[in-house]
Amino acid sequence: MCGIVGVLGNHEVSPLILDALKRLEYRGYDSAGIATVNRGHLDRRRAVGKLINLSDVMVHDALPGRSGIGHTRWATHGTPTVENAHPHQAGRVAVVHNGIIENFRALRDELAASGAQFSSETDTETIVHLTSRHLEQGMTPVQAARATLKRLEGAFALAFLFAGEDDLMIGARRGSPLAIGHGEGEMFLGSDAIALAPMTDRITYLEDGDCAVLTRAGAQIFDAQDRQTNRRIQRINVDAARVDKSGHRHFMAKEMAEQPAILQAALEQYSTPQGVELPDGLEFARADRLIMVACGTAFYACQVAKYWFEKYAGLSVELDIASEFRYRDPVLGPDNLALFVS
Ligand code: GLU
Repeated sequence: MCGIVGVLGNHEVSPLILDALKRLEYRGYDSAGIATVNRGHLDRRRAVGKLINLSDVMVHDALPGRSGIGHTRWATHGTPTVENAHPHQAGRVAVVHNGIIENFRALRDELAASGAQFSSETDTETIVHLTSRHLEQGMTPVQAARATLKRLEGAFALAFLFAGEDDLMIGARRGSPLAIGHGEGEMFLGSDAIALAPMTDRITYLEDGDCAVLTRAGAQIFDAQDRQTNRRIQRINVDAARVDKSGHRHFMAKEMAEQPAILQAALEQYSTPQGVELPDGLEFARADRLIMVACGTAFYACQVAKYWFEKYAGLSVELDIASEFRYRDPVLGPDNLALFVS
């Protein structure tokens, strides 16, 4: 899972974005990059591998600017190379993207047929060419981004930045998470509150289908039906321990050491003097089949859980890889319970 950060700031943003990306390192990534608007022009730096490589690039070739977007990539379309790393750029627009654009092949063919020159193998690059096309047709950046969103199928969190627009950043989400951070005369975007923790604790979580237009003065949010809407600003207390490795060699070692405490905290949330009470009236006893859906390590955890559910609860369990489940038409009965683990 990769990370997105965006800053409309009052200081140079590259160091802030790099620091925020470090807070998203726990998600894993293969390359990273940052784009800024500087004196009206878009500029970007990208590097494969650890964030320290991006930091090295920016030490030798500084990236000034007070508005910018950054990304840690976990490749789905195209190998981890500098050309495929985000932000992607075409004409006056730069974009960072988490997720997958399912109809990218058709969009790419359409754009290439009318002259767009692609420089990466990613699904993401179709977004910048499409938006750039809309700008060329005379749309404003906001109109162009919203027209682009209408053409996209799949799951995404996106941040857009535009040349000539030092006080504008657009965020959108469908499927993948995205949060807005509210500062004092500054505004932020981030995949989660943890990324934004040092800059602000005032967070708005966007809902599915939302598109947010940010300036330093605030955010205008539009819902999936294009209606302007309000989303709550929450004060987030991000526990500092969650964002670093707490002395462990890497995040996996930290997560292993944390297991007893995390299990206890999770159980305490649902345990009552009568036993364990699950949210929303969820009762495993009513289910006649349990389908567990997960990827990677979470899938391994489900393999263990399957044995437990079968042995202790007598419940029939099926396992599914989440990325496949997404594309099937699974046959589900009224008393089947699906459990998605991430
Ligand atoms: N699908 C995009 C790519 O392969 C985004 C991957 C991500 O979420 O990092 O570049």
